[in-house]
Amino acid sequence: MLNRYPIYTLDHDCQDCCKCVRHCPVKAIGVEDGRAKIIPGLCIVCGKCFEVCPAHVKTIRDDLEPVKELLAVTNRSIYVSLAPSWVNEFPRIDASIMVKALIDLGFKGVSETTLGAEQVSAGLAQLLKDRTPHLWISSACPSVVEYIGKYNHELVPSITPLLSPLLTHCKLMKKHYGEKARIVHFGPCIASKIEAEKYPDLLYAALTFRDLKRWLEDTRITLQKNKVVDDYSFVPEKSRDGGLYSMEGGLIETVKAYDTFQKVSFVTLSGIDHVKEALENIDPEDLSAGTIFVECSACPGGCINGPCADSDAPLLSRRMELEKRTIKPGIKPTPRPDIPLKETFRTKCIKKEGAGEEQIRNALLKLGKKDKKDELNCGGCGYDTCRAFAEAMVMGMTEPEMCVSFMRQKAQKKSNALMSRMPSGVVIVDHEMKIVECNQRFAELFGDETLSIYRISPGLKGASLPRIIPFSDLFKKVLQTNRDIRLNHYRYEEKLFEIVLFSIEPHEIVGAVILDVTRRELRRDKIAQRANEVIQKNLSTVQEIACRLGEHMAETEILLRSIAEGYSDEGTPETSEGVPEE
Ligand code: SF4
Ligand code: SF4
Ligand code: SF4
Repeated sequence: MLNRYPIYTLDHDCQDCCKCVRHCPVKAIGVEDGRAKIIPGLCIVCGKCFEVCPAHVKTIRDDLEPVKELLAVTNRSIYVSLAPSWVNEFPRIDASIMVKALIDLGFKGVSETTLGAEQVSAGLAQLLKDRTPHLWISSACPSVVEYIGKYNHELVPSITPLLSPLLTHCKLMKKHYGEKARIVHFGPCIASKIEAEKYPDLLYAALTFRDLKRWLEDTRITLQKNKVVDDYSFVPEKSRDGGLYSMEGGLIETVKAYDTFQKVSFVTLSGIDHVKEALENIDPEDLSAGTIFVECSACPGGCINGPCADSDAPLLSRRMELEKRTIKPGIKPTPRPDIPLKETFRTKCIKKEGAGEEQIRNALLKLGKKDKKDELNCGGCGYDTCRAFAEAMVMGMTEPEMCVSFMRQKAQKKSNALMSRMPSGVVIVDHEMKIVECNQRFAELFGDETLSIYRISPGLKGASLPRIIPFSDLFKKVLQTNRDIRLNHYRYEEKLFEIVLFSIEPHEIVGAVILDVTRRELRRDKIAQRANEVIQKNLSTVQEIACRLGEHMAETEILLRSIAEGYSDEGTPETSEGVPEE
């Protein structure tokens, strides 16, 4: 079998929503770097996390390939142990059709797991005839057995010392078909995989109905509804009332068929939370008034509602269907002494190292929970109380980021730090024109009165925007259109604002950043004025130069002309007129 735990998380696709943590009855899921990981040593394989994960990243180990490989290479006899709720998964399919399909897939024969259940009932009937008062808890559900072994170790002696129906069936099959026969189970349960791991000599692999559907689909084997095929039936025989085992109360019904058991109280518990609640802190000695037999299943309603049960039909309809197809015989199966069912449960108790009080306090402080009133116990992190969460944090199972109130405070602090340091006024407003939040700079921009109110009530939460600013219409416009608006120069009293309005939540929330650009614009005016002055000055200088140049040109021309004339009129005395003055 693959060297992996029966259920695991596809790490990279985990959305860090903590839903699996919230639903895990024993908090066997640790979060690391925002990814929820199952801790095998703590897990009881109830499959809850698999059922609830919205991202479908809790994954059941695929044991189908090794089974296919085994079928392809071995010449051993491989038999199917088929859980009774197959009738819910494949409605209106006759047993003969199902048997034929499985044989077509390569199995030697198909047997009902319920044959094992019937043997267990017979064994239980014998056990309960003993008059010594005792608390007995059925060993039928491997997940409940895991729970008691790991978390309620004192009750281990109360687990009925009998193998589960599935393992009993495997024993029976091996007795019948020889030790070399291999058994592959199809059912609605993930915890059966743990049974295969613990008892590899008995059970080769535990597959799910989903695996079977996938396999049939891949090999294009169609199950014909309402049809019967001759010569195909369950081996070595058809079961009787064992099918009742897979529904809540069914186990007790089959046991009661053996006797009236007047001194025995029968109790049914289904759903791991109920099981936990009923058995927690129980002292078997306190129940010595008589014998109590508790039928427990981790899945609410019994195995027909197992985590890998795929049927869409309502639980009641499934139950009715199964009852209809279960024979309730007058003759009870007798225990087979050749199949020893006795089992001493090899479970390992989990001693959770409790965190010290000081460590828990420090963890709570880290979460911003300085005293009791800060402990919201909202369950957002997946733990019922902040204290339980803090303890898990000390144990390295959780991260502060899982606490919603811690994250909200952190986000608030960040936004506060940003808002308070911004040179612009920032305001966020809801659709009723009420302020959701603003910074001090915003209050400063709109006068002393607004600022005084801000000092009393920082953030101005709930204040009416139109009473503070004259341009609240712009906010309404953004709410209506969800389009940003930008104004480069908005005159407000003596000031000049640059305003950007933007939609935060369409039609719900709008924000604005308001920058006072009065000084900047004044400076710009001044610079422009100075520039103008310089230009003017330069212009007059240029004009003067041009003028001078013009005069100089004229004088030069006169002078040249007179020289020329002097040369042409020889004897004419040279005149000093026309020599330009420098
Ligand atoms: S299978 Fe059950 S016990 Fe294991 S992690 Fe999932 S919810 Fe928890
Ligand atoms: S339920 Fe668990 S595994 Fe699934 S996405 Fe949420 S945190 Fe991740
Ligand atoms: S406040 Fe945080 S730590 Fe407390 S229960 Fe809620 S999410 Fe968990």
